[in-house]
Amino acid sequence: SEFVKEEFSRGTLRTKTVEDILTPLKECFMLPSSAVLDFSTMSELMQCGYTRVPIYDEERSNIVEILYAKDLALVDPDDCTPMTTITKFYNHPLHFVFNDTKLDAMLEEFKKGSSTMAIVQKVNNEGEGDPFYEVLGLVTLEDVIEEIIKSEILDE
Ligand code: ADP
Repeated sequence: SEFVKEEFSRGTLRTKTVEDILTPLKECFMLPSSAVLDFSTMSELMQCGYTRVPIYDEERSNIVEILYAKDLALVDPDDCTPMTTITKFYNHPLHFVFNDTKLDAMLEEFKKGSSTMAIVQKVNNEGEGDPFYEVLGLVTLEDVIEEIIKSEILDE
């Protein structure tokens, strides 16, 4: 019945976490903050097909900004504009969430927030040293919706 189906997808949203559905860091298309927006970088960006690209400083695990593909609209590749000039200008908010965030909570965040992408991090206290935040990947509203649809289809 519709009721059972709805309960099932609610169950998925209540129990699954962002860690279950994220796009792993190594599969994320990102660029370094040291990049220059020349012809080659801009082509790479356009061709990656993503609307949002995390920008990291030195290491891929150190995400510091986010670039929207549409930010490039007024950028002339001949100017070789530094990446940071553009990211500082637009200054899109960067959202971090913990790996154990449930999908229903994530959905609410996305609904009320200004952005529909979040960087997933966890507290890593495995090694000898001090605990540190480890970036696992990124999650978008699209990933949550896909999970809802999947759970509804499985229940048919
Ligand atoms: P887009 O708006 O770029 O199409 P979506 O938010 O619709 O992105 O997400 C589609 C899928 O792509 C999701 O699985 C999401 O995790 C993934 N994704 C989004 N941006 C990136 C990126 N820069 N690198 C790798 N995967 C990404």
